[in-house]
Amino acid sequence: MKLFPILNQTMLAQENRDSYGSWESKVWPSEASAVLSDQRESNIVGKCHRAAFGRMMGWPVTNTVDAVAARRFIAGRLMEGDITRLAKDAGVFVASGVRVQVQDEETGLHLPLELDLVAVNPETGQLGIGENKTIYGYGAKKVIEGGQPKLEGLMQLVIYRNEFPTGAILKQVIIDGWRRKQELAEAIQEKVAEGADPFSYKSLTREFERNRIEVDLEKLAAADDGPIFTNMLYETRDSCEDREFEIGIFEDDNGLHWPTIDGIPAKFFTVESIYERYQVLQRYHEAAKLEARRRVARDGYMEPSENARSGDIWKYKERVLAEMKNLPYEFWPPAEYEWRYDEEKIEMLFQAKLISKSAYEASQRKKTAKTYKPMGHWACAFCNFKQKCVATEFPEMAHLVADLASQEEEAA
Ligand code: SF4
Repeated sequence: MKLFPILNQTMLAQENRDSYGSWESKVWPSEASAVLSDQRESNIVGKCHRAAFGRMMGWPVTNTVDAVAARRFIAGRLMEGDITRLAKDAGVFVASGVRVQVQDEETGLHLPLELDLVAVNPETGQLGIGENKTIYGYGAKKVIEGGQPKLEGLMQLVIYRNEFPTGAILKQVIIDGWRRKQELAEAIQEKVAEGADPFSYKSLTREFERNRIEVDLEKLAAADDGPIFTNMLYETRDSCEDREFEIGIFEDDNGLHWPTIDGIPAKFFTVESIYERYQVLQRYHEAAKLEARRRVARDGYMEPSENARSGDIWKYKERVLAEMKNLPYEFWPPAEYEWRYDEEKIEMLFQAKLISKSAYEASQRKKTAKTYKPMGHWACAFCNFKQKCVATEFPEMAHLVADLASQEEEAA
């Protein structure tokens, strides 16, 4: 008997979760994006608005992960978690798994964050955030040898730095997260003592399980209230090297804010651009919900009153979410990356060292109709909605995209 076919099936089921629509226009840190100063490769860095919108609408995932990708995710999570264990053993651990809901009434921004690691400098008492990332291959080489963090991670750290600039603010969010965990534990205990049906307090149990906060309260109380450090910690999964960057923010003469890497200004994108793009994404979600509500009302389903039974409210929301998922192209944000580069662009990217030699050489090899594989931005290659997006942008390519997806699945 072979075990891997069974194990892999379970692993793939765990890593390829079902998609579901989002009623609230919450944005995720992994969906951060910004307008780039250098637009040779693309106009933006980070998550394309259309891909993030697809997640919010609950579009079915057309590009599922294969066993290799799933194993890479798992290896990455295990290594990232191990940094936290090491921080405990090294005596610098303060907190991990700190969940924070960043909400801004003025802009409507709703951004749930989770801090991997809060550590303390044992000599100065300075608090700081460590973001643990694992990398491999050509991207890792650029980080380790090129001495530059990935811009996706840089955006995440800049958000943390902007939201929690001092130890005093960071302490407060950790205490709030810790208190919430205690409140949830007490509320669940009460329900258990009452003999309540577990389904009736499922939302409490889910929130309790998701809140994985751990805190060293003594170290937290003793830490400094002044400015914090925000560090990006990289480990490579293949060569097992490490590299760390200290990330900060500086303000230019025009009042715009830019990242710094190890104290040196890095004018890749402005911090303002990250927040602006989040707001644009939220507006697409709001417009989609408004249109879906209009369509549902047109079909005779009126919104229940606030005092209606929760089951009726839920049914209405489900109807609206189903409508959102199927809204036509006019309601989607634009496709912001190029799925397929032309020859001229490939040449320019190679000369600018923006693509690897092996990728360039592969693009130059003569291809038959059977072996044709377009070269484009890596974000499209890994996009959950590539098939849906490309088939809409290039209807004439729909068959090719479907064939490529099935080839990839067979290869897995
Ligand atoms: S395929 Fe590319 S352009 Fe289309 S949604 Fe995905 S990342 Fe965006």
